[in-house]
Amino acid sequence: MEERGSPDGDPARSLEQGPEGLETPIQVVLRVRPMSAAELRRGEQSAVHCSGTRTLQVSPPGGGPEVAFRFGAVLDGARTQEDVFRASGVRRLGELALRGFSCTVFTFGQTGSGKTYTLTGPPPQGEGVPVPPSLAGIMQRTFAWLLDRVQHLGAPVTLHASYLEIYNEQVLDLLSLGSPRPLPVRWNKTRGFYVEQLRVVEFGSLGALMELLQMGLSRRRSSAHTLNQASSRSHALLTLHIRRQTAQQMPPGDLGEHPAGGKLCFVDLAGSEKVAATGSRGELMLEANSINRSLLALGHCISLLLDPRRKQSHIPFRDSKLTKLLADSLRGRGVTLMVACVSPSAQCLPETLSTLRYASRAQRVTTRPQAPK
Ligand code: ADP
Ligand code: MG
Repeated sequence: MEERGSPDGDPARSLEQGPEGLETPIQVVLRVRPMSAAELRRGEQSAVHCSGTRTLQVSPPGGGPEVAFRFGAVLDGARTQEDVFRASGVRRLGELALRGFSCTVFTFGQTGSGKTYTLTGPPPQGEGVPVPPSLAGIMQRTFAWLLDRVQHLGAPVTLHASYLEIYNEQVLDLLSLGSPRPLPVRWNKTRGFYVEQLRVVEFGSLGALMELLQMGLSRRRSSAHTLNQASSRSHALLTLHIRRQTAQQMPPGDLGEHPAGGKLCFVDLAGSEKVAATGSRGELMLEANSINRSLLALGHCISLLLDPRRKQSHIPFRDSKLTKLLADSLRGRGVTLMVACVSPSAQCLPETLSTLRYASRAQRVTTRPQAPK
């Protein structure tokens, strides 16, 4: 499809418009980070370029056939953090969370592709050196937007936050007051899956929420497995729990409101390397030797969600901690936004293609699973 001449040249607008919205439970945007200094020094070539606002062209070095991938929005290395925030449509997820739905934003991609940068911005360059506000990530921007929105709502809203990490299938509390120890994931009828004894902190201001984020981020950076260079194998989940006092009207569509209140969850996923999406017959084939059970299980659940005849009860959310904690937003009580992150370098092309295929498949989840008639 020719898009170059489209008058709608602003990718920041592409997801905010359009009627598709609620029928697409998994929305996907793609971010290509700029070439890094090291990649440029090594003289690496770019293997991708954006064509229009929704298409990425991949040209293998050596002149193989070009492949095109379409997403809700495609953002190249020239796009700012603010562009990504606007184009990702995360404010729509915030609105849904305020109405009682469970929504999730996750970043997916190989280690070094820009997942953490996209969600939380770069790390501080030194002790006491603040990160410029222009580099703040999707999370800080959403926090500011949400608190502003809550102020203008009029109805009383209570806000809580939790922040945890999943490493080797163990859940660790990034906000715990003592030294973190593994916590169990439980299920009950009203709450769905939840982490027992997780610290859930009420906050009333943007400053207080930013402090919680910083506490978790600095713990993540200094934790034992980060020092062992295995941080790319952990997932970090920050969840905002939103409860409004007044009952809201049911929104259009087949989504049910969650009695326990809305949730907005931000997930910085483990590096996707070794998780290959290569299915040719409609299912996701995943490499058997992957060390990351949660990422495998997520891919598996997404591939089963692709089949509209599949009963919800047969989707194996219980296979991993990550899928248990994301079950609400994946199975129809909200919207999941996947920000797929890739490097432009031809050296990364195999991993980039694997990310693009995984992401393409995820966005094809277009109908919610229903029992066969
Ligand atoms: P990941 O979390 O996927 O492993 P990071 O977010 O840590 O990757 O990014 C890897 C490196 O690239 C970091 O040094 C980060 O600051 C830099 N980086 C990532 N995305 C961008 C971007 N859009 N603009 C500038 N630098 C970026
Ligand atoms: Mg990271």
